[in-house]
Amino acid sequence: MNNFRYKLARMFAGRTGVDALGRTFTWAAMILMLVTMFSHSNIAYLLAMACLIYSIWRMFSKNYQKRYYENQMFLQKTAKIRGFFIRLTPNIKNKIAKMRYDMDQRRTYKIFKCPSCKQKLRVPRGRGKIQVTCNRCRTQFIKKV
Ligand SMILES: [Zn+2]
Repeated sequence: MNNFRYKLARMFAGRTGVDALGRTFTWAAMILMLVTMFSHSNIAYLLAMACLIYSIWRMFSKNYQKRYYENQMFLQKTAKIRGFFIRLTPNIKNKIAKMRYDMDQRRTYKIFKCPSCKQKLRVPRGRGKIQVTCNRCRTQFIKKV
């Protein structure tokens, strides 16, 4: 294993390796591959291959100063877009967490509105017919849960 690592490290010594620009092209290649699978488009396939070859070529390129410069340019030009996605990610995570929480709630609780004040109430499921007291207006009513 260590020998393998050593060989790998030697192989990449003095080469560009994986940087943000290379990673973007690898992702683009993978997405285009998916597009090819669904659309059977030759153009998508050629683009996927081009992206893949470019990202591999970058990895092994020995002119790492030029590659570094390209990567910096890429990072500069995409700063706004990347910032947008970085800001978006926690929002999506929060929304998924909230959706999961709501689903769990619906599974274990029956959620309904009070007939007189429309306050949202929740009662554990599977109790049959029970008398519910609204915790806001104190109206009592029978509910099947
Ligand atoms: Zn009420």
